[in-house]
Amino acid sequence: MDLFEYQGKQYFARFDIPVPNGGVADTVDEAVAHAEHIGYPVVVKAQVQVGGRGKAGGIQLANNADEARLHAGNILGMDIKGHTVRRLWIEEASQIQEEYYASFTLDRSAKLYLGMLSAQGGVEIEQVAAESPQAIARIHINPLDGLTEPACREWVAQAKLNPAATAGTVSILLKLYRAFEDGDADLVEINPLILAQDGRVYALDAKVTLDDAAAYRHEEWQSFGKIISEDERERRAQERGLQYVGLDGSIGIMANGAGLAMSTLDVVNQVGGDAANFLDIGGGSGADVVRAALEVINSDPKVKAIFINVFGGITRGEEVAAGIIEGMQGVELNSPVVVRLDGTNAEEGRAILAANATNMLYVEPTMLDGARKAVALAGGR
Ligand code: GDP
Ligand code: MN
Repeated sequence: MDLFEYQGKQYFARFDIPVPNGGVADTVDEAVAHAEHIGYPVVVKAQVQVGGRGKAGGIQLANNADEARLHAGNILGMDIKGHTVRRLWIEEASQIQEEYYASFTLDRSAKLYLGMLSAQGGVEIEQVAAESPQAIARIHINPLDGLTEPACREWVAQAKLNPAATAGTVSILLKLYRAFEDGDADLVEINPLILAQDGRVYALDAKVTLDDAAAYRHEEWQSFGKIISEDERERRAQERGLQYVGLDGSIGIMANGAGLAMSTLDVVNQVGGDAANFLDIGGGSGADVVRAALEVINSDPKVKAIFINVFGGITRGEEVAAGIIEGMQGVELNSPVVVRLDGTNAEEGRAILAANATNMLYVEPTMLDGARKAVALAGGR
């Protein structure tokens, strides 16, 4: 689960990491009210889950109520790299002296945690890594040992920050590590971490990805989840516990396994169609999950045909077929379903499907045939 900046800052604050004062606003009036309360100058920041908001015009300084009103009005509804701004974060403006970068994440190949710190913050870290990799101080941390204070000091020394920022940065990094490790995050990133004119060090931006697998032991995360998805279809899918990503095409997709689902999108595209979604129904294909998946796909008015692409592994073909037929019964479908079933006992499964074929259920032997049929039923792109 990715958090918005303001949620990331709230998350950081729980771990005692200093962040600017601010408030969330969904309307221009709310934004101005926060600005008046905080005191000018304030910064009006677009809340979208994509970087580079500054460059896109989604971050503006306001020196008075008129400017706050103007910027809030301009930024709300703005499109930033395909994300519509629906929410703002209004915070006290900062007098920046220097901008740094700090993060913790998993290094899967090293099987260790990786901390990265750089005196060159404020720009994308990928750019720093490409242009001047030596400017990033890295530390590998064994989760069993944790991040000790001496190790943290040494790491910060390597990054050659302004000495005035050293103590504050060490303190923040130790807390950020706790936010990462105890907090069950996959990524915590501060870019920029700033040294302000007044000598304080604090987080000016926040990027946090929580580990969904740990959600069961974090009831407090529920407050983050509510507004996570802006897409009605994705919200429906979340309620049903489905791995769904909404897209813009007309072919609804359901596949078992993320890899197969992605291949299905490619094949549909290859034969002249566009997928309406990505949806991985996972290993089992019981009637419940098929029904839930069909409910979500069927709720999308753009969908003209549905392509179910299942490779039976442990789940046998007959079970998959029975699940599909039973699942379909619970939903009043707006568009026809094409099934490609392969793998364990595929023959038996296909026979069951064929016996139940109607003008709403078609069975095709291969992924390519299935994709072609679905695209034809949908009438192309
Ligand atoms: P991003 O572009 O989406 O990563 O958004 P950030 O929150 O990182 O802001 C981008 C840049 O805007 C920062 O690196 C700063 O240079 C600038 N910025 C953000 N807030 C302030 C502020 O309060 N004062 C000043 N002077 N600059 C700011
Ligand atoms: Mn940033």
